[in-house]
Amino acid sequence: MRLSLFKRKPDPERIEVPHGGVLYPVAVKRRASARRMTLRVSQASGEITLTLPERADFATGRLFAENHGGWIAARVAKRPQGIPFEPGQTIPFRGTPHRIVHWSKARGVTHATQDKDGASILAVAGESAHVPRRIKDFLRRAALDDLEAAVARHTAALGIPARKITIRDTTSRWGSCSSQGHLNFSWRLILAPPLVLDYLAAHEVAHLKEMNHSHRFWALTHKLCPRTEEAEAWLKRHGAGLHAYG
Ligand SMILES: [Zn+2]
Repeated sequence: MRLSLFKRKPDPERIEVPHGGVLYPVAVKRRASARRMTLRVSQASGEITLTLPERADFATGRLFAENHGGWIAARVAKRPQGIPFEPGQTIPFRGTPHRIVHWSKARGVTHATQDKDGASILAVAGESAHVPRRIKDFLRRAALDDLEAAVARHTAALGIPARKITIRDTTSRWGSCSSQGHLNFSWRLILAPPLVLDYLAAHEVAHLKEMNHSHRFWALTHKLCPRTEEAEAWLKRHGAGLHAYG
């Protein structure tokens, strides 16, 4: 039996790299053949991997990954192969998995319903080539409806006039509030549980009174949305995953 005095502590299987309010899970791999540390974002699976040469120091590897948070975020956001809006795919809608079903013979607008077994589905009529666009339109519309309702509720609670909002496809932020009081939101919030969408609406509405992230701002956000921490934690954990759809 050989005993090594320099036996290394085993590496964790996974570390988390924070960037822009998102925690990116990074798998840690040792490879004898590796000559240097590398980071990789799989374009197919989205899996992020930090590969370390046999002798590399783990702490240095972690730092290497953390210093490349921006690079990881950009690679994840650019990933072309996500989950397409195609029949048979399952996507979250208001936080609940819904399977996309194409009813070619049916007419009418895309809507959320249940199939004969009671499973949640998004039913799309019309030509199959139009399914992805119809799903996207449906989600943007639903996001606008839910965010308008949430913003109206929160502005009423603050006793200020309701605001017109804009829905965007932003990768860097979920919502924003301009100095002129324009509110913008990502349509992808409709994929998240309703609490998360409600929190983002409360957050941006609170900025209409407090254009900063001061204690006063957070107190106001909490008043509008008492489950602020829960929503923030959800976004940190799952937010990046919402970019995989469509
Ligand atoms: Zn803010």
